[in-house]
Amino acid sequence: MTSATHVVTENFPPVAGRRSTFDVEKVRRDFPILHQKVNGKPLVYLDNAATSQKPESVLRTLDKYYREYNSNIHRGVHYLSERATQAYEQARQAAQHFINAGDPSEVIFVRGTTEAINLVAQTWGRRHVGAGDEIIISTMEHHSGIVPWQILCQEKGAKLRVIPINDQGELLLEEYEKLLGPRTKFVSVVHVSNVLGTINPVREIIELAHRRGVPVLLDGAQAAPHVKVDVRALDCDFYAFSSHKLYGPTGVGVLYGKAKLLEAMPPYQGGGDMISSVTFEKTVYNKVPHKFEAGTPNIAGVIGLGAAIQYLNQFDWEQVEAHEREVLAYASERISSVPGVRLIGTAREKTAVVSFVIEGIHPHDVGTILDQEGIAIRTGHHCAQPLMQRFGIPATARASLGFYSTRADVDALVAGLHKVLEVFQ
Ligand code: PLP
Repeated sequence: MTSATHVVTENFPPVAGRRSTFDVEKVRRDFPILHQKVNGKPLVYLDNAATSQKPESVLRTLDKYYREYNSNIHRGVHYLSERATQAYEQARQAAQHFINAGDPSEVIFVRGTTEAINLVAQTWGRRHVGAGDEIIISTMEHHSGIVPWQILCQEKGAKLRVIPINDQGELLLEEYEKLLGPRTKFVSVVHVSNVLGTINPVREIIELAHRRGVPVLLDGAQAAPHVKVDVRALDCDFYAFSSHKLYGPTGVGVLYGKAKLLEAMPPYQGGGDMISSVTFEKTVYNKVPHKFEAGTPNIAGVIGLGAAIQYLNQFDWEQVEAHEREVLAYASERISSVPGVRLIGTAREKTAVVSFVIEGIHPHDVGTILDQEGIAIRTGHHCAQPLMQRFGIPATARASLGFYSTRADVDALVAGLHKVLEVFQ
């Protein structure tokens, strides 16, 4: 997880220098929550797609902020406020470099991926989408990538068009190309599916849309923690991700937008900080990114996200990806060898997620029995009900990896799955 700039300040606790090799046991020591027992068994945390755990340095950053310089930002002239403002804006730079955005003003802090997509639908969308227009999404969207566009379509009399997928859980690019037409106004797709783990061919998706002058938003909630994101190389128009899936605090996330688009968009919410002047007759809005950050933001969360990115910057991204790929391959093989198991999502390009069903056993029962063994996985529709319908199932069990996940975690999970089978014999 390399970055051109390492943001190191007194606000963020120092972390060890760059790590030359990836030592997963050393990484695990950075995450205090992992070292506990649940139901009398060592915790095996395989629910990272829902939220990931936080390293010590993030915990210390949050503690330090509240103990030493808790203060509101941007408008204060006193020491604490200036220090909080500095840390907040340094976190913006850290996020900028993390995704290789051209300028910090292209990074807007929001509550998370969900808010980021709603922001684009309600600002860019409301301004540019009209009756009869079309918005393209995919079958494998999280509800956050469906409902905001549905709301917009209902309001404007526009239509959602959906890219189909094959049985492996891969987007059908030729079908996507057919969907792109004169009425297409916007494309919004997941970079990585939270259910299937599929890494979508986003470069091609963007290129095909741009040939027709159509902007593209990528939902990077599941990509940012696992795939090197370079918004300039991708040439995406918007990119959304959540801090809490990236080893940072909850309640904060990033919307990246190209400066030209952001500048032309109307504000999302009105209030403090997003204005440069207000009279009863007229308000002049602040410049980006502040135009989109109305009210007191999640200051601690943003600073915590900065610390998470700083923590990740110690690692070589290729080594992290190689480790996760290795554990994913092992998990896919071991889990699919359990009698009655069927994997849902077997795309060639995949990361970090193994969804599965076991014949005759409801996924919730699988999750409950595993919990007795101290193993945390997620079961249900994973906020992707249309995708469940595509596969003709109500739910899956989903084991999802973090970069601290190990083969031993997988072995414990597989042993747990055999216990599930025993219970249902
Ligand atoms: N998009 C995807 C692909 C997700 O996996 C999630 C969360 O699971 C979201 C969007 C929503 O993220 P958040 O709840 O952090 O806004």
